[in-house]
Amino acid sequence: MAVLDLKYYGNPILRKVAKPVENIDGEIVKFAEDLIRTMQVNNGIGLAANQVGRDIRIYAVDPSVIDMSEEPFVLINPQIITTEGEQSGEEGCLSFPGLFETVARPERVIVEALGVNEKPVRIERDGLMARVLLHEYDHLEGKLFIDYFGLLKKQLVNKRLQKLKAGDLEVFR
Ligand SMILES: [Zn+2]
Repeated sequence: MAVLDLKYYGNPILRKVAKPVENIDGEIVKFAEDLIRTMQVNNGIGLAANQVGRDIRIYAVDPSVIDMSEEPFVLINPQIITTEGEQSGEEGCLSFPGLFETVARPERVIVEALGVNEKPVRIERDGLMARVLLHEYDHLEGKLFIDYFGLLKKQLVNKRLQKLKAGDLEVFR
């Protein structure tokens, strides 16, 4: 397993709409393993393919932060089937090192996808895991958590975002 390079805010791939995976071949299976490994090494609870430079519809999540008996997994070509309710909580993103802000999201989500074994999976989660599933789905649509910031919050972080864009990875630490 390899650890892949993270792509940070300012990299145009983070704004691209990712393409569906057409064939879950050996290369994709290996990529899925690398994505999970890269998420774990960086202490993330979710990581989307475009965050490591691939514009394909795959993301990894790690539910073991909530339930130790669960293992990290990837979702391929995920679809949001339904969302319900509302929650508000602190959110971060590996493409924005050190930036944490409160973001409102639905409380509950149902996602359907394919697993690496090509079998369909249906996942129903609430709370933090719903937040992660939705945050990562947004990445595949080229959407970032800063897009949910209100005008004031945007103004507060804008100068530092510009520095991050210019390559200063310490600006929010
Ligand atoms: Zn993210």
